[in-house]
Amino acid sequence: MKKAPVYFTDMRCGMGDSLLTKLARLIKKAGIGDINFQHQYTAIKIHFGEPGNLSFLRPNFAKVVADYVRDKGGLPFLTDCNTLYVGRRNNAVAHLAAATENGYSPLTTGCENIIADGLRGTDDLEVPVRNGEYCKTARIGRAVMDADIFISLSHFKGHECTGFGGALKNIGMGCGSRAGKMAMHHQGKPHVVAAKCVGCGRCAKECNENAIVVTAKKASINHAQCVGCGRCIGACNLHAIEPAGDGTNATLNCKIAEYAQAVLDGRPHFHISIVNQVSPFCDCHGENDAAVIPDIGMFASFDPVALDKACIDAANAAPEIKTSILSERDAAKTGDHFTKIHPTTDWRSQITHAGKIGLGTGDYELKTVK
Ligand code: SF4
Ligand code: SF4
Repeated sequence: MKKAPVYFTDMRCGMGDSLLTKLARLIKKAGIGDINFQHQYTAIKIHFGEPGNLSFLRPNFAKVVADYVRDKGGLPFLTDCNTLYVGRRNNAVAHLAAATENGYSPLTTGCENIIADGLRGTDDLEVPVRNGEYCKTARIGRAVMDADIFISLSHFKGHECTGFGGALKNIGMGCGSRAGKMAMHHQGKPHVVAAKCVGCGRCAKECNENAIVVTAKKASINHAQCVGCGRCIGACNLHAIEPAGDGTNATLNCKIAEYAQAVLDGRPHFHISIVNQVSPFCDCHGENDAAVIPDIGMFASFDPVALDKACIDAANAAPEIKTSILSERDAAKTGDHFTKIHPTTDWRSQITHAGKIGLGTGDYELKTVK
């Protein structure tokens, strides 16, 4: 397969320029103008950020993309689906309030926010997955599928189940309705390592399914109730909750790639990732730990697989920040930054499977934009 072009601009900025004008230049150079936006509903998939988290993307980045689409005659809207777990984004009322609290409103971005899978996360479409091995169909938020054009605008960061979260995760997991998210997660039910657990109960508070009970100062998970959302893994400061050690994180990565295939298949799409404030965990957390690497830059491509591979390569080539969680990781733990942070994950499985099902290629050519 031919190398996919991925366009990149760094975070350096001279006087008279700005990161926003650099982003506008980047997407134009990357060829977004090849898409005919005239009268087309354009879904811009964003993560509005869990309130309390401060590493999610600022709305200013979204405005650049929305402005471009509108200038070309398109009808942009920002969108995300509800979460599976407890938090401020698990129904459309709370989700929209959270988006507003984090600065996303028509005043700041120039376009509306739409929660794609509706009030309770049940408004979805069952979409065929081309070449799907794990999922023959995917349950995708209806507003995402109703759009004519799809743009992913993602914040690149670490993730406790997938190793890192980039474009594929923003698209695949992010566009799954509640049923879709459950279908992706359901094999990955975690367990408590009793020797590490001190019975603080924090995990139980985070569990939307009441699947965790703490008795005699030890937590335990009822797998009949657990939906495998993984929220409790990140909730435990003592790393006492681990995903099932049977390759389920790799399966999750494959399913995310297949869901992304369902979202993108058969319509114009374009992808942007911002690699800044690279926190070790997802923006779904109501907090953000310190960045693990310095800010890298902004990337854009028509190929979400190439885009993710370019971002992970650049991030892993960057020096670690010594005051971050990376410095706490056992020196004996080897591997790249994201494998060190999340040793039970294998981010490569997502890239490899996405390539295998024809979603894109991990073989890319980086083109720098000044
Ligand atoms: S958060 Fe961790 S330490 Fe606290 S009860 Fe849950 S598993 Fe145990
Ligand atoms: S116990 Fe299961 S449902 Fe509850 S937070 Fe953990 S993974 Fe999610």
